[in-house]
Amino acid sequence: MAKRIQFSATGGPEVLEYVDFEPQDPAAGEVQVENKAIGINYIDTYVRSGLYPTASLPSGLGTEAAGVVTKVGAEVKHVKVGDRVVYAQSPLGSYSEIHNVSGQKVFVLPDAISFEQAAAAFLKGLTVQYLFRQTYKVKAGDVFLFQAAAGGVGLIACQWAKALGAKLIGTVGSDEKAVLAKEAGAWATINYQTEDIAARVAELTQGEKVSVVYDSVGKSTWLDSLNSLKRQGLLVSFGNASGPVTGVDLGILNQKGSLYVTRPSLNNYVTNYEELTAASEELFSLIASGAIKVDVKDTQKFPLSQARKAHETLESRATTGSSLLIPGQ
Ligand code: NDP
Repeated sequence: MAKRIQFSATGGPEVLEYVDFEPQDPAAGEVQVENKAIGINYIDTYVRSGLYPTASLPSGLGTEAAGVVTKVGAEVKHVKVGDRVVYAQSPLGSYSEIHNVSGQKVFVLPDAISFEQAAAAFLKGLTVQYLFRQTYKVKAGDVFLFQAAAGGVGLIACQWAKALGAKLIGTVGSDEKAVLAKEAGAWATINYQTEDIAARVAELTQGEKVSVVYDSVGKSTWLDSLNSLKRQGLLVSFGNASGPVTGVDLGILNQKGSLYVTRPSLNNYVTNYEELTAASEELFSLIASGAIKVDVKDTQKFPLSQARKAHETLESRATTGSSLLIPGQ
């Protein structure tokens, strides 16, 4: 028997239960991993709440972790028992001591990267990789807006932007978060609890505004994001922390300057092992060089049994950077 988190009904953090389960052998294309550190992602809250529907209940939760391979299906050739690995985009259920995951989603960890670093940086770092290197190719000298810059994805984005020589203007919910985003490499910050985002962007860019906005906050920042763009600029809307953007009249894109909008997801950018390898190598080389650091605060390392508390903390906007669940505690 092993322990995992499951939920039998969608809802608030209180639906999360810590239960025993019997791990199954991996299928031919799968790898079984004993998780050592589990990445908590805001997406997990959308699944738990029902915003992103689950196929069936009861269900496990979470799609990311790092650990040691304990069993390998017959068709998987690139990993062996005992390998240190990280995975993202697994079937729901990484909030668990043991998890079976498609071999296509498993990447062998470089020796220099710890389980905690990997679980804190993998899904979020792959996200920044596709946002900055594929959706819109950020170049040295670019000035752009990134919403929620002191979060898990956000602090990696600040550091990646700096490594590219670009000027990231990051929005944050408190002055303490502004300090963190600046330390991570943001060129400027805007506290969106007290400042007008679009007015500040115009001011910081001498009225020019920006060519691209990355927005994972969603509903509450949608209009500010559009108002921060130059003519023909691109809004990359990649999350819903404040609720989803719905009911949009396309005419608004015309009124605001013939704008573009895309609603991307990692699952459409990393679809196979080749794409996973290319993006992972780029991410881990930036971590190995020290350009990207992922230090998780001790107060944001929760025992697996306390997933409920971890979700409450994340959704109350009390976290900065990444958060982890640690099995066996
Ligand atoms: P974060 O650590 O960034 O947490 C979310 C942050 O959003 C909060 O800390 C808070 O920062 C900000 N926020 C603004 N408004 C609200 C609100 N009403 N309620 C709660 N939080 C709010 O989470 P992650 O790093 O895990 O993910 C960041 C975002 O990226 C999420 O929206 C997620 O869905 C998205 N994402 C999308 C992917 C994709 O491929 N499409 C992949 C990975 C993540 P503050 O207090 O500073 O406002």
